[in-house]
Amino acid sequence: MVRFHYPPTFDESIENVAKAIREGNTCGDGDFTFKCKEWIEKKIGVCGAYLVSSGSDALEHAAMLAVEPGDEIIVPSFTFVTSASSFARQGATPVFVDIRPDTMNIDENLIEDAITPKTKAIVPVHYAGVGCEMDKIMEIAKKHNLLVIEDAAQAVMSKYKDKYLGSIGDIGCFSFHETKNYSMGEGGATLIRDDEELSDLAERKRESGTNRRRYIRGELDKYTWEFLGSSFLASELSAAYLLPQLEKADLINENRNHYFNMYMEMMADLAKEGIVELPTIPDTCSYNAHMFYFKCKDIDVRTEYIRYMMEDKQIKVMSHYIPLHDTNGGRKYARFHGEDKWTTKESERLVRLPLFYDMGDDLVERIVQETKAFFLK
Ligand SMILES: *Cc1c(COP(=O)(O)O)cnc(C)c1O
Repeated sequence: MVRFHYPPTFDESIENVAKAIREGNTCGDGDFTFKCKEWIEKKIGVCGAYLVSSGSDALEHAAMLAVEPGDEIIVPSFTFVTSASSFARQGATPVFVDIRPDTMNIDENLIEDAITPKTKAIVPVHYAGVGCEMDKIMEIAKKHNLLVIEDAAQAVMSKYKDKYLGSIGDIGCFSFHETKNYSMGEGGATLIRDDEELSDLAERKRESGTNRRRYIRGELDKYTWEFLGSSFLASELSAAYLLPQLEKADLINENRNHYFNMYMEMMADLAKEGIVELPTIPDTCSYNAHMFYFKCKDIDVRTEYIRYMMEDKQIKVMSHYIPLHDTNGGRKYARFHGEDKWTTKESERLVRLPLFYDMGDDLVERIVQETKAFFLK
């Protein structure tokens, strides 16, 4: 079976992990973690970056900083579970609004109508690594005094205008899961844009709600429990694995964009015939090529295409999220505001193809050939 993803694999990662093990520096916040943190702060442009054990941890970490029981947050329904559940765990209610069919991102024009006196934050999700309309979202947040927490799990190294995604909202959440562009196996980071006080709070919430980090830095002679937090720290082994990938981020980005552009060019004729729809990358977005997807005519065509690729051709292709409002969890912990005009309809047509660092031109060509064989048969 042709794999759907394969993480970037560099010898430096293996050497780094071996070094950390030999030296017995394996818990959180060692040298490798510090270097990853510094890389994110400098490259992405934020005042604080905290490595955590998953993208979901970053969202829970952010939720602990942003909401209290009874609050509401606004988020799309077409997203991963923890974009919403992280806030529900803090006792807040996720309020879903519809997406735009072109980017599958939250429709910025529907946000304002969903705001109530309980609303605390807007949580834009940059689907496939394509930026939401951040100017408009930041403007709404400013007007209504709301926080913006970017779910930039898929968007590491993508930009909106001249800024990296994850650095525009008050808080940004990255994932370094194996399926994302840069891998720790399981991992993530919480980013604080420019608020030093919030960054200090983030540091302490990540240390189980203590001032332990200040104690380790020698600023205190003992550490104590201050408020609620959790041990969100990532292992030093995962940071040792991640660092060389971050150092080669531009190379990985170019390489992925090359394959993404190949798909776009080779599938253009199918799109021109109206057989499939290709993704839209707005001019405002410079892209990390996290994902290549297209849309079929309807769910029946998609089901048959996935069956053909998986069973007949042994190539892994995948559908994506079941809209959260249409799940048991979504019904129990969240609500949908307004009309579901696009979320369900568009999610049912979407299919993702393999795209990973170093996959090779031949593989892209083969996947497109088989895809054309299916649609033009
Ligand atoms: C992957 C992902 C997450 C969660 O990240 P994990 O590291 O898997 O916990 C959250 N939101 C979105 C949009 C994601 O793609």
